[in-house]
Amino acid sequence: MTCTSSAPCDVITKAEQGGLLRREEISGLISLSDSQEIERLYQAADRVRAECVGEEIFLRGIIEFSNYCMNNCRYCGLRRDNMEAMRYRMEEGRIMELAQVIKGRGCGTVVLQSGEDPYYTGERMCGIIARIKDETGLAITLSLGQRPFDDYKAFREAGADRYLLRHETANPVLFAGLCPGRSLDGRIQCLKWLGELDYEVGMGCMVGLPGQTVEDLADDVLLIRELGADMIGIGPFIPHEDTPLRNEVAGDTSLVLKMLAVIRLVTRDTNIPSTTALGVLDGDSRRKAFQAGANVFMPVFTPRDFAERYDIYPGKGNVKKADGAIIDFKAFFDTIGRPVGEGPGGRRKRS
Ligand code: SAH
Repeated sequence: MTCTSSAPCDVITKAEQGGLLRREEISGLISLSDSQEIERLYQAADRVRAECVGEEIFLRGIIEFSNYCMNNCRYCGLRRDNMEAMRYRMEEGRIMELAQVIKGRGCGTVVLQSGEDPYYTGERMCGIIARIKDETGLAITLSLGQRPFDDYKAFREAGADRYLLRHETANPVLFAGLCPGRSLDGRIQCLKWLGELDYEVGMGCMVGLPGQTVEDLADDVLLIRELGADMIGIGPFIPHEDTPLRNEVAGDTSLVLKMLAVIRLVTRDTNIPSTTALGVLDGDSRRKAFQAGANVFMPVFTPRDFAERYDIYPGKGNVKKADGAIIDFKAFFDTIGRPVGEGPGGRRKRS
């Protein structure tokens, strides 16, 4: 397609060629409203994805093993003050069974996710990590929230390879308002520790948070670039009725797709999932994300009895059923013409 006019095309070309984008250029791309320009943005991101990480879609099987949380984030259904949440913890034996299922289904990575649950002390968690590593050999990603440096260190030594800790928003005021008792600086400190400990580090944000601006989203991109994230998860904010944000509006899926595309252009060879939250709002967007920069799919393997209670945002349970219903991932991704990746699919190709 020829570039008929205007600045956006030039910025897309600059971004595709790996030029260092300024904040205004990033916010300009995120605010594109012309459907042809948006399509050009997606196509550029799709080409950079193909060139930098290839055609394969890598699978990460998720186990949501506890929904207890001592934190009180105003957006999240697992927040401490949500008395409607029916809390659970999975037996270690159940976690091990699921890890085997995940391996059997061809995923090279298991993701262990939970609320911030102090029951899982460093020692208890290390036992689980070491056992999974020993019995499955899978790459292990943790998503357990903020922990002390020594816990992160012990997890790494026990065999964890990667850690997902979304920064949620790069606007420190917005962050402090959303996560009582927490600060963006504290979150960034954790991300830096994880990098020092040689984890592959995942960060990311929600799109469409109440009060969030396009400039805030540009700052999210800049922060991701500055910290050198290996993986980036981006999803729409979805209001949960048992939280203080129940009456807010959900994030816009096309804004999420534009963010995803810009992040692919800026970060080049990172791992970027098409996230569950995107699919909850619109199944087609979850597919579209793979044509706008995404290269990772994270099917949820939490059994239904627990999955329904891992209610971070409404609708999550339905997507879980859909994930579980995918009998053959290869056939599923055949429909968008992409092969399923073999092996762990880490950024640094080390495990
Ligand atoms: N306790 C872990 C895991 C959090 S759940 C941690 O703190 O990292 C994973 C992600 O779900 C969060 O990082 C957040 O970005 C997202 N999330 C939480 N509530 C949400 C909501 N209402 N809408 C959309 N995404 C949400």
